[in-house]
Amino acid sequence: MADYLKPVPTADVETKPYWEGCKRHELLLPWCKHCKDYFFPPQAICPHCLKADIEWRKASGKGVVYSMSVVHQNKSPGFREQGPYVLAYVTLDEGVQMLTNVLANDPYAVKIGTPVEVTFEDATPEVSIPKFTVRK
Ligand SMILES: [Zn+2]
Repeated sequence: MADYLKPVPTADVETKPYWEGCKRHELLLPWCKHCKDYFFPPQAICPHCLKADIEWRKASGKGVVYSMSVVHQNKSPGFREQGPYVLAYVTLDEGVQMLTNVLANDPYAVKIGTPVEVTFEDATPEVSIPKFTVRK
């Protein structure tokens, strides 16, 4: 594993199950038992009903690109070495949106509506980060 230069997320009590799932290469989403729906980003309290009655469910890992941009200039360590990359909002099949990267040899081949699926980048031995690739 090469040195990972980008900032690495830190799990807290609210996001620990999410990051533990990522480490196992499983995309878990918080699901509100009261609203009977998913929400994102992970937090301990449902943003819709403000109840703490949630559980973690494994997501399909599939979705479509809702919006995207090809980033050419990012001078932050770990990004400047990367070259053009895709920053995107992905709408998961479960209905929530994630701000993420879509990994593609040709970033301009990624379009709004492109079907994608999750993959995991092992940033450190402790942290894996969900990203997406174009679904074939
Ligand atoms: Zn709720």
